[in-house]
Amino acid sequence: MSDGREGGCACGAVRYRLTSEPLFIHCCHCLNCQRQTGSAFVINLLIEADRVELLAGDPRPVDAPRDDGSNQRIFRCPTCQVAVFSEYGRPEVRFVRGGTLDDPAGVAPDVHIFARSKLDWVTLPDSVPAFEAYCDSKTLWPTASLERLEAVMPSA
Ligand SMILES: [Zn+2]
Ligand SMILES: [Zn+2]
Repeated sequence: MSDGREGGCACGAVRYRLTSEPLFIHCCHCLNCQRQTGSAFVINLLIEADRVELLAGDPRPVDAPRDDGSNQRIFRCPTCQVAVFSEYGRPEVRFVRGGTLDDPAGVAPDVHIFARSKLDWVTLPDSVPAFEAYCDSKTLWPTASLERLEAVMPSA
């Protein structure tokens, strides 16, 4: 395991380090992610917020409207505006954008979600589970990740 993946924005003002492996890695093909990224999908590394160590810079939250009327809080470099991570409702877990890693090839999705809006020319590998909508973390995540999640977000 590479303990300490690093990444950052385009201009270099924001630099971060992940102090452990992520909990789980989503590749999301939903329409919100397509619009927010201007691309076919987003790669999100789910990880406890306190395991995203800021080495430089101060990403600023920007609330982006989603189709369901809610907002998604996206943290962007104040200078170049590249999105480095976001929150989905709960601040305890960050969704770090895989493309901002120094080595984006060093991670691969554990699951593909919202495959119902996947672009036709994107072919998913048989080896990775895919779901039409969201996935159930309880059945999919490794036990160690579920325990880590429970530690920061007790379920009851
Ligand atoms: Zn920047
Ligand atoms: Zn999405």
